[in-house]
Amino acid sequence: MSEDSFDAIIIGAGVIGGALALELADRGYRTLSVDKGPTAGSGSTINSCAIVRFSYSSVAGINLAWEGMHYWKDWAGYIAADDELGLIDYHMTGQLVLQQAGDTTHAARVKMLWDQIGIPHEVWDTETIRQRCPYIDPGLFGPPTRPSDDAFWAEPSGVVECGYFTPDAGYVSDPQLSCHNLQRGAEARGAAFWFNAEVVSIDRDRGRVSGVSLADGRTAQAPVVVNVAGPHSYLINQMAGVYDSMNIKTKALRHEVHHVPSPDGVDFDRNGITVADDDLGIYFRPEVGNHILIGSGDPVCDPREFVDPEVYDRSLQPEQYEAQVLRAGRRLPGLGIPHERKGIVDLYDVSDDWIPIYDRTDLDGFYVAIGTSGNQYKNAGSAGQMMADLIEAVEAGHDHDRDPLVVQGRYSGVDLDVGFFSRNRQIDPHSSMSVHG
Ligand SMILES: Cc1cc2nc3c(=O)[nH]c(=O)nc-3n(C[C@H](O)[C@H](O)[C@H](O)COP(=O)(O)OP(=O)(O)OC[C@H]3O[C@@H](n4cnc5c(N)ncnc54)[C@H](O)[C@@H]3O)c2cc1C
Repeated sequence: MSEDSFDAIIIGAGVIGGALALELADRGYRTLSVDKGPTAGSGSTINSCAIVRFSYSSVAGINLAWEGMHYWKDWAGYIAADDELGLIDYHMTGQLVLQQAGDTTHAARVKMLWDQIGIPHEVWDTETIRQRCPYIDPGLFGPPTRPSDDAFWAEPSGVVECGYFTPDAGYVSDPQLSCHNLQRGAEARGAAFWFNAEVVSIDRDRGRVSGVSLADGRTAQAPVVVNVAGPHSYLINQMAGVYDSMNIKTKALRHEVHHVPSPDGVDFDRNGITVADDDLGIYFRPEVGNHILIGSGDPVCDPREFVDPEVYDRSLQPEQYEAQVLRAGRRLPGLGIPHERKGIVDLYDVSDDWIPIYDRTDLDGFYVAIGTSGNQYKNAGSAGQMMADLIEAVEAGHDHDRDPLVVQGRYSGVDLDVGFFSRNRQIDPHSSMSVHG
């Protein structure tokens, strides 16, 4: 085999691409990961909130997340290699999903599915929420509005019905380091990584994929190429000529996450948990230095800004900062609005129904792990296994389009229903059409 010839080429060295490289290398594939960035995890993963939770709208989504969590718990065993930068820590804070009244909410559906699947959780009434999280006001403030709306400032209309707490949930505080860990793990198993290596064409030979060409003139050959390019995924699909043949499309959505100090007297580092709060249209988690990281639950009152992933405004917008921080301030009394705005701007690779696409394509040998819709960091390990199982099966002749693959997660044994993530599915009517998936 020549130096530029491989068994599989993976476009993207983010958390999903890195996990796939490790998985395939572990199975004996000679893999090449190419990334136009300078290091592993320098794409959208670097700014991920990296929350690990199981609050999805489907059995398949929950199973993938439940299985994915086990990788974070067993990180050192999974990576099984040295990293000179050290390994990430998994902060198992637990997650509280707040339930407004009514059985048509996302939270109610999640609870119903957790019962069905057997995901460990506790039901906290408002008194328990107050005892366990004295920094939380369980008032009902929704539905979410903008601070420019008078309704935003109204007194609470009651209290939330309850909260659903999953003790195994948590977060990773350094998502870029997790990609470096995956790179070192993959390299220890023989994988190659090329950085500052921008793919400009997907090459074909006799009707199937044959490799990639790079902007600097280099080429690499392989019978398998996987698009794991995050928010650039649709551009890679266009290069491969498969964009039009997929029923579900992806595009890049601009998103902001804000970092603020904890309210005075609250040790959020030690006592904070991650919270999903559809009543206010936010989620939040502890961040190092007794800070709180506040993300958006994509409420319908907020503008959605789809952008060209190469050209978009990377500065925090004062109105969005104010909206998210003020919303969090209603749930966390005493939370101030710092004059100096801190946070990040990055992109979700959003699919039409906010559910990822893990699939083959109509071009033989060309696969996609895309459309991660702001919610797949947690699933890197389980998605890596699922994609490797898919590639092995299809390359061995399995007709996945006619007979969709279901595989078992190696840690928990749950079914990983690959067909659910098909490129040709109809839009899932149960999707929250938001980061909740
Ligand atoms: C603000 C934010 C918050 C989030 N919070 C959470 C969360 O709390 N929990 C959760 O589970 N998920 C979360 N997510 C989602 C999660 O981070 C992503 O699903 C995940 O990081 C995607 O990883 P990836 O490897 O697919 O993509 P990326 O990390 O984007 O990697 C893609 C790589 O492809 C490379 N690339 C692109 N085009 C080319 C090309 N032409 N040639 C070569 N390389 C190319 C890029 O340089 C990049 O490094 C969040 C995402 C964002 C943006």
